[in-house]
Amino acid sequence: MTTVRASTRSLIDPASGEAFAEVPELTPGDVDAAVTRAREAQRGWGALSVGERSTALLKWADALEAHAEELAQLESRNAGKPIKLARFSDIPFGIDNVRYFAASVRRQEGAAAGSYVGGYTSMIRREPVGVVGAITPWNYPFLMAAWKLGPALAAGNAVVIKPAPNTPLTTLRMAELALEAGLPEGLIEVVTGGAEVGEAICTHPDVAMLSFTGSTRTGQRVMELASRLTKRVTLELGGKAPLVVFADADLEAAVQGAVAASFVNAGQDCTAATRLYVEREVYDAFLARFREVASSIRMGDPASENTDLGPLSSAEQRDKVRRFVEDARAQGLTVELGGEVPPGPGFFYPPTVIANAPQHADCVQEEIFGPVVVLNAFSGEEEAITLANGVPYGLAGSVWTRDVGRALRVSAALRCGTVWVNDHLPLASEMPHGGFGRSGFGKDLSHYALEEYTVPKHVMLDHTGARRKPWHFTIFGEADQ
Ligand code: NAD
Repeated sequence: MTTVRASTRSLIDPASGEAFAEVPELTPGDVDAAVTRAREAQRGWGALSVGERSTALLKWADALEAHAEELAQLESRNAGKPIKLARFSDIPFGIDNVRYFAASVRRQEGAAAGSYVGGYTSMIRREPVGVVGAITPWNYPFLMAAWKLGPALAAGNAVVIKPAPNTPLTTLRMAELALEAGLPEGLIEVVTGGAEVGEAICTHPDVAMLSFTGSTRTGQRVMELASRLTKRVTLELGGKAPLVVFADADLEAAVQGAVAASFVNAGQDCTAATRLYVEREVYDAFLARFREVASSIRMGDPASENTDLGPLSSAEQRDKVRRFVEDARAQGLTVELGGEVPPGPGFFYPPTVIANAPQHADCVQEEIFGPVVVLNAFSGEEEAITLANGVPYGLAGSVWTRDVGRALRVSAALRCGTVWVNDHLPLASEMPHGGFGRSGFGKDLSHYALEEYTVPKHVMLDHTGARRKPWHFTIFGEADQ
């Protein structure tokens, strides 16, 4: 394939609506060249000892940390994210994730080493898959890249990574810093572009595995393309997380937690609390206090230290969110707070609450991916669980109660990959993140993620030296006497 650079793409500052940078819009030919470089790099990288790989990744993490403020500014500008979220959450957590994988690969072991069949010794080797194709969304560009690059590289793979077309800047910078920190050329190949470039990764014969984070619809397409060449796939897809508040909960804690979990990153978070279910006895009190606290959220310039809520990432996303709320109004649902696009430039949308939407309504069933929550009452544990589980997604959820038995029962009953009790959102490098149902499969973070990026290989050694084995007679000849 020839490498023909088709064009460049202007990046739009979501806070102003103005173009502020240009990046190349690559082609399938560029993807092919990137995969070739990555394959070459993987041969040497995969042959290093885990200690050597770990040391190299820790140097990269140090370089990321040395540039943390620059990365935070870049992320905030490109994604419209409040600077405090980028500075105190996304960037330091992403660096911690890389350090975790650099450390944890050193204690990764094969589970089996022993004599499982008489006369043989078995062992497990964990081998890299080869070149990983990683595709990331626009809501947490730095973090999602760290979640893929960290385990994939630690496990000995090379990665061709495609950030979302509108938010490539921190991923590009991560790759530059990797080179400066001494990681080999070709180990991280960033390919910028949209669906065409994504599909070229998915269909490339030398990409052994696809690690995708994004919407369920695109994930289904990725899986379909992967099936043609029987590629390994991990899919981190959409979410519609329930937050369930029982009457016995600390109501103020539940309100504070619900506001934070609903409006984090302007609601553009796959684990954001988007369906608030509150036990009927405390519903009115919860709603009144939630409205009060949510009204104190300061929407504005993401670069300002005082901004809580930035713009949505693109005009397209803002319009999608607006349409959901307009449809809810048209269906006669009550918008208790927000629900109007503010005047002025940028893609802003205010904290919005839709009350008493029926469970089948689009705003309850579908991922809106903006600062919009639905709030509903329930009676008793059984109804809470039925409502919470009553959507096709299953990424995360939370239960708020002071009753330990209830916390255990409900957290066991919720069909989602993460359940918090009396909180909603925190993640840890050591613990897995990933979905049930249409939220996908495969895990990010933790040693489970590391396993996604390796193939267990059984190596079985005969240690008898016998030429004719006792079992050969089952295939030819007679059993030895
Ligand atoms: P998206 O599916 O539109 O795009 C994701 C990525 O896929 C982008 O890089 C995009 O360019 C690429 N892409 C688009 N079409 C493609 C195709 N045909 N083949 C290959 N690649 C293609 O998602 P988005 O709007 O960028 O991100 C928001 C979504 O991401 C939400 O649904 C959110 O829940 C999800 N998300 C999930 C997690 C998780 O951990 N489960 C984390 C963050 C975001």
